Amino acid sequence: MEYLFDCWASIEYTLGRWKRVGVLPKILLLMDYDGTLTPIVDRPELAVLSDDVRDVLKQTSKRYPTAIISGRSLKDIKNMVKVKEIYYAGNHGFEISGPEIELIKDEAKLAKPVILKICNELQEKLSHMNGAIVENKGLTASVHYRLVSKNDFPELKKVFEELTKPYLERGDIKITSGKKVFEIRPNVDWDKGRAVLWIMNALNIKDGLAIYMGDDKTDEDAFLALKNKGITILISERTKKSNAKYFLRDVSDVKAFLGRLISLS
Ligand SMILES: [Mg+2]
Repeated sequence: MEYLFDCWASIEYTLGRWKRVGVLPKILLLMDYDGTLTPIVDRPELAVLSDDVRDVLKQTSKRYPTAIISGRSLKDIKNMVKVKEIYYAGNHGFEISGPEIELIKDEAKLAKPVILKICNELQEKLSHMNGAIVENKGLTASVHYRLVSKNDFPELKKVFEELTKPYLERGDIKITSGKKVFEIRPNVDWDKGRAVLWIMNALNIKDGLAIYMGDDKTDEDAFLALKNKGITILISERTKKSNAKYFLRDVSDVKAFLGRLISLS
């Protein structure tokens, strides 16, 4: 993995080539939200988008189709970003919406009652634990434990594993994990990678150049899906094992990169 700005000359050349052949709208810009456009914070509601990043997004979305792919619910992510021209994928891509495209995975909708039931059970069993946040996002759910003490964590993990086990065994759900979070999803073959390819298809830019930025495990599916046909960028202070080709260090790097994309066009 290479630091993207160290390779800027060759990236600029690639982007410029797309531009010179007159296919600039075939560049698609995709990115995650938490940890990519905002720093990681203690509670999800505190990850507020700064005005200057919002301005940059407004400008990129005028030049390139721009999409945000998040684990948050569609409603939540739209509300955090508040830029009309952007395509949004919520719940890791189970629901997608934007100018002239719309998707809700029906198979995922069927799991809603199960997700609700698990959330209620988790809430009850974890209500005494300081810092545990159970978030029902409709089609998926998250258990955030960033604020849970080291001493309490083993109990949280045990409760989570015991409670989700029967649902897992019945094939109702899948479990994934991210930065200080466990995720419960419907057992449907769909992820950020599939969502990205679906968006490219829906926008008729299947053969275009996709640029994807993300910071967490769920973004690896998108990096993999775009291997050899995109510019994939992990947001991380350090290089680590990833399917991404490049890395950027933090939100201010992301902002600077978006700025460079704007001045290209
Ligand atoms: Mg993230």
